[in-house]
Amino acid sequence: MARYTEAVCRLCRREVEKLFLKGAKCNTQKCPITRRAYAPGQHGTARRQKLSNYGLQLREKQKVKRTYGVMEKQFRKYFAIAARSKGITGKVLLQILERRLDNVVFRMGIGVSRAQARQLVRHNFVYVNSRRVNIPSFQIDVNDSVVIKVKKDKTAEKIKENLEITKDRDVPKWLEFSRPELSAKIARLPEKEDIPTAIEEQLIVELYSK
Ligand code: SF4
Repeated sequence: MARYTEAVCRLCRREVEKLFLKGAKCNTQKCPITRRAYAPGQHGTARRQKLSNYGLQLREKQKVKRTYGVMEKQFRKYFAIAARSKGITGKVLLQILERRLDNVVFRMGIGVSRAQARQLVRHNFVYVNSRRVNIPSFQIDVNDSVVIKVKKDKTAEKIKENLEITKDRDVPKWLEFSRPELSAKIARLPEKEDIPTAIEEQLIVELYSK
């Protein structure tokens, strides 16, 4: 299972936008975007050229891909599924990304970042409909229940800490979250309004439809 292993703050700096990939650090003065809001590299401080249409589409696709921690091959697969579906392609694409199990765990506030949520899934702490699922890309559906099960150990402490860090982050309305039980029921499919990040999905549709 391929995943990005290089310095993640560099990804934000490339997009010159906070993608919140590091959890707690993202809201502090230590965030490199706060200190150096320009692209990395030798020409990073040079005046930004006006992007072409293609440039805008490419940057939007890269931003979304990086935000959800998805590699190009899988992102293309998601687009192909969305394009084949009966719904609006851009909307379905966002729903597929939101319905990833690692994203659900992140939205619940159990993980401070998607990378951490992904690790919880990989380490067998997450159950969907009472069955253990350790595939971060697993697609949850309406009425599914997601439960985090940990013994009283370091992980339980870490989750408690995470919930404290994420307490001001709203759990989206499509998830019925129970904090004491560390569980969530999927009440409905996510809508674009439920996603706190500004995404212009139409640009991605245009890019892949060429
Ligand atoms: Fe991005 Fe967070 Fe790193 Fe800031 S601290 S650059 S928001 S990953």
